[in-house]
Amino acid sequence: MNERKTENRIESYPYWEIGERLPSLPEGRIERLYTHWSAHDYESVFPAYHFCIAAMPDGRILVVNTHDVRENMRDIGEHPDRPYAAHTRGRNSFAIGLSAMAMQGATPHDFGEYALTQPLIDGLCLVAAQLAATYGVPIDAEHVMSHAEAALHDGYFGNADEQRWDIARLAAEPRPLVDRDAIETGERLRERMRFFQIP
Ligand SMILES: [Zn+2]
Repeated sequence: MNERKTENRIESYPYWEIGERLPSLPEGRIERLYTHWSAHDYESVFPAYHFCIAAMPDGRILVVNTHDVRENMRDIGEHPDRPYAAHTRGRNSFAIGLSAMAMQGATPHDFGEYALTQPLIDGLCLVAAQLAATYGVPIDAEHVMSHAEAALHDGYFGNADEQRWDIARLAAEPRPLVDRDAIETGERLRERMRFFQIP
């Protein structure tokens, strides 16, 4: 049995099923969205993100609001000691982090026991589209990016321990991970978000 700490349990937070209307979210300044995977199992959620997308054994996809968006509606650098969701290094001010719960033990060549799935990717992109519409964030490469793209800009892209490559591939491939994986997959995710975009 996998024992989870309270902060990693879905029931500790507000949550809803994908496709249901997004509950009303706090108004305020959000300028960017960052997409991630958790590098853990399908059901452990993390307050380092604002929204976690989790796949249940019965097939339901749940959206879990693990962190109050208001804590990131500020310049984090002014008061780094105050609480906020630390999802993307150096990029947490006025920014939401959302993440697919998956990819524990994954490598670019073998996604392992908790591989990303199409329902998880679609869930992530639908929630991103809903958040973009709510906060007026344009779905382009400057305002909506994966952690891998942010890491590429900031010099820590890769699959070594101190590097990040979420979400640079949607499926495992035998060839080595390269910068273009981050860029091309980032664009595919944004295309999917635009497909879901709420007018
Ligand atoms: Zn990440």
